[in-house]
Amino acid sequence: MEENILSVQGRIFNIQRYSIHDGPGIRTIVFLKGCPLRCRWCCNPESQKYEKETMVTAGKAETVGRDVTVGEVMEEVEKDRVYYLRSGGGMTLSGGEFTVQPEFSGSLLREARNRGINTAVETCGFTRKEVFEELLPHIDTVLLDIKHIDGEKHRQFTGQDSTVIKENALFIAKKAKKLIVRTPVIPTFNDTLKEIREIAEFAYSLGTVKELHLLPYHRIGSDKYAGLGREYTMKNIAVPDKLKMEELLSVVNSTGLKGQIGG
Ligand code: SF4
Repeated sequence: MEENILSVQGRIFNIQRYSIHDGPGIRTIVFLKGCPLRCRWCCNPESQKYEKETMVTAGKAETVGRDVTVGEVMEEVEKDRVYYLRSGGGMTLSGGEFTVQPEFSGSLLREARNRGINTAVETCGFTRKEVFEELLPHIDTVLLDIKHIDGEKHRQFTGQDSTVIKENALFIAKKAKKLIVRTPVIPTFNDTLKEIREIAEFAYSLGTVKELHLLPYHRIGSDKYAGLGREYTMKNIAVPDKLKMEELLSVVNSTGLKGQIGG
């Protein structure tokens, strides 16, 4: 049985050690390839397509995406076990979107748990409910993005309506061990007091959510678009200033949630 789970294959584009922004404690982040959304501000555009692709970085072409086994990923994850124990950290599945590869994700999460390693996921929430039903028992912390309440505006900026995400949020809130909502704050998309209030009120209404993290828009990763032969359509958008973020934070706190700026 153990041999089977270790040989399950999946496609990733990076593994990053020593992260402190993607779940509790010090964590190793496994970035899976493939995402059902196309957020205009995405700082990992090379994550979106499941297919391997070529990206030019500093004049050098490189292939993004590699096929690995659960055993190979766990070898990397195991390297920092001592830090996980000291800090309450562990392994986080990110992307991309971990639900795009449910068998691989499920195997990684089960294997980590079997080894006593804490698990977290970062998710856009856009998938079939059955996928969450199967994977949630193996996850300690779910970091779920709620980007906008209005379905049409969500579709304009991410390519998909928000209805499925809101339905899944309700389901996750009932079943998850711990759910934290995160909202990337994107000028021209969702940075008004009204829009952030609607998101915070929705998160609070889920019943089990205590925290909402506001993640300010940034341009890190924008040069990757040119490297992929794509246009970065957010180049004229200004980064939100500290005052603006504090204003939005007080809106979140006024709904009864504990707000935070940054992950
Ligand atoms: S959900 Fe995340 S990974 Fe997917 S396109 Fe949006 S920002 Fe990028």
